[in-house]
Amino acid sequence: MGSITLRNVSKVFGEAKVIPSINLEINDGEFVVFVGPSGCGKSTLLRLIAGLEDVSGGEIIINGHNATELAPAKRGLAMVFQSYALYPHMSVRSNIAFPLKMAGVDKAEIDRKVSDAAKVLNLTDYLERKPRQLSGGQRQRVAIGRAIVRQPDAFLFDEPLSNLDAALRVNMRLEISELHQQLKTTMIYVTHDQVEAMTMADKIVVLNRGNIEQVGSPLDLYRKPANLFVAGFIGSPR
Ligand code: ADP
Ligand code: MG
Repeated sequence: MGSITLRNVSKVFGEAKVIPSINLEINDGEFVVFVGPSGCGKSTLLRLIAGLEDVSGGEIIINGHNATELAPAKRGLAMVFQSYALYPHMSVRSNIAFPLKMAGVDKAEIDRKVSDAAKVLNLTDYLERKPRQLSGGQRQRVAIGRAIVRQPDAFLFDEPLSNLDAALRVNMRLEISELHQQLKTTMIYVTHDQVEAMTMADKIVVLNRGNIEQVGSPLDLYRKPANLFVAGFIGSPR
């Protein structure tokens, strides 16, 4: 359960048509990367899917149901924010448990889900620490943990690694890919980094000025870029 379809989705801010009209099919279990230059509309598109922004036109179908008017919490999706969105005064355990507490889940179930998530993310020994007592990578894992406990149908990542240093970014990239292999849950991952896109994606969506230039596997895009923009952006030898 994690298919998402966008039908003629558009977004206008005032006079600016940031997303003219997008059609896209995301299959259950896919790792989909939205890639494109800064300002092309990646975050806006993700926020439309999450329900954090209202569409100006079109429909968002999640698991076969029209979710266009649904509140964010009812869409079954979990957005992973950058690690600095953690609560500094709360332990790792409380940070991960937070969405479940808000949802009124009982304590025994919270404890079980937090310890399951901690196992998956290698955070078991760090549950009583505060975020400041963790490395950048561990903090990012806590941010992911907060999404995992909700058992979403899809994870939405918006440039989750952009405030980590280069070496750590490579590590976290591998960890998120491994997490996807383990959970087999749909993931939509936004980045402006071509290398992240090419190494992580099952399917890449290349965006430019709010339009899709091409959708395909990394190999498709590399071998048969649809146009010069894609070729230049992906770095293929066309
Ligand atoms: P990206 O994530 O690809 O860098 P964004 O989706 O953040 O791009 O932004 C796409 C365009 O929409 C930019 O020109 C940005 O200035 C504009 N934009 C985004 N959010 C708003 C908003 N709330 N109000 C007005 N313009 C916005
Ligand atoms: Mg963005």
